[in-house]
Amino acid sequence: MKCINCKKEIFDNKILVKIGKKNFSVCSEKCKKDIDTFLKKENKWKNIIILLVMLLIIMPIILYIVTKNEAFITIMLIGMGSIMFFFPIPTHQTIILFGLKKSKIIVRVIAIIILLRILYKTVF
Ligand SMILES: [Zn+2]
Repeated sequence: MKCINCKKEIFDNKILVKIGKKNFSVCSEKCKKDIDTFLKKENKWKNIIILLVMLLIIMPIILYIVTKNEAFITIMLIGMGSIMFFFPIPTHQTIILFGLKKSKIIVRVIAIIILLRILYKTVF
């Protein structure tokens, strides 16, 4: 069994955290706290993130379909990259697969790649 936060092997620990409806094991009180803090933050920012996704991703896609102006695709990608960078909230499946710690890094790396690509395309 591995810790759902840091993916360290767990031997005799019986600390559990709840993600969604399932219970997962963590290796220490610190990892339990990390998960709890993440879930609280996720809950707190959920509505704001949905709003940002509507404004910065869905709206530009609709505008692009209507106007065929590629600037809206750029806006959409910048929006997506920024949201992922500032709110690195991985899906629960990603967390289960890689652990929370790595999942956050993965989301941020993808965000940086998206933003760098835009920057590169804009400059060159
Ligand atoms: Zn851990």
